[in-house]
Amino acid sequence: MQNVMSEILSRSGMSNSSSELEPIQCQYCGEDKPQTQIEHPFNGEMRWVHCACPCEVKRLEDFKREQDAAKRRIRINKTLKLSSAMDEIKDMTFSNYKNRPGTESAYEEVRNAIDNFDERGKLGVFIFGETGNGKSHLTAAGGNELISKGYAVIFIAEKDLLSRLQATQNFKNEESFAEIMGACMDADLLIWDDFLSSQRLSPNEKDWIFQIVNGRERANKPIWYTSNITPEEFQDDNIAYALDDKGRTWWRIIGNSECRLNRATNHRKAKAMARAMGMSVEEYEKQEGHQ
Ligand SMILES: [Zn+2]
Repeated sequence: MQNVMSEILSRSGMSNSSSELEPIQCQYCGEDKPQTQIEHPFNGEMRWVHCACPCEVKRLEDFKREQDAAKRRIRINKTLKLSSAMDEIKDMTFSNYKNRPGTESAYEEVRNAIDNFDERGKLGVFIFGETGNGKSHLTAAGGNELISKGYAVIFIAEKDLLSRLQATQNFKNEESFAEIMGACMDADLLIWDDFLSSQRLSPNEKDWIFQIVNGRERANKPIWYTSNITPEEFQDDNIAYALDDKGRTWWRIIGNSECRLNRATNHRKAKAMARAMGMSVEEYEKQEGHQ
């Protein structure tokens, strides 16, 4: 019996004496494996055992990290496929983003949303203001920065999203409803460009919007919206009923978003006007701002 016990213990790597063990070299780096003392399971005495070499532990951790990264990359590529006009969006970064007068608070909020992405959970941003004033560029630049940090991001224009969901109702369509909805739920960030640009939403469309807004709220994931609605429309209670009879979708969106008015003017218009008046865009905007 005694022999059997010591046989079991020595096979498990535990010494049957209280002295240090013969060194074992690591098969990877050739260093002696570290030893440590643990309590004997039967008699409570301290015994020496070999531990895994630190290089082996690191090897396993690296392997796991690479596996996770590979899985994440597949996921990101899958979600990216859903984005509208990928080529255009890829070029919208902070390096070519211009902070024009009136964009400051929207810019700061997006910056905050990037820097505290994990901590903010479902708290998104809602940026509204005149068409062509850089809202899409700002949110796309934020999305691109998060993609480079390894997050899965979808950037999609409302019309594109709704028409793609509508197209799945045709059974020959290659994209299924569940695939699109699944990607919208799974993405770490959903950037919803041109929110409320649809004139009249069908009951189906209202339901899809609610499903996405509600599903992401439950999953504690944010949505960043850009919208061309005016400050008057934003404050008007009627806007809540555009999305459903009870206004529940709208209030959910507002409750989960930091709302910022981008006061900057339409950049294309400013460029055209400045050219017509023979001045720089900066001069034109300064003059406009003083009116
Ligand atoms: Zn080693």
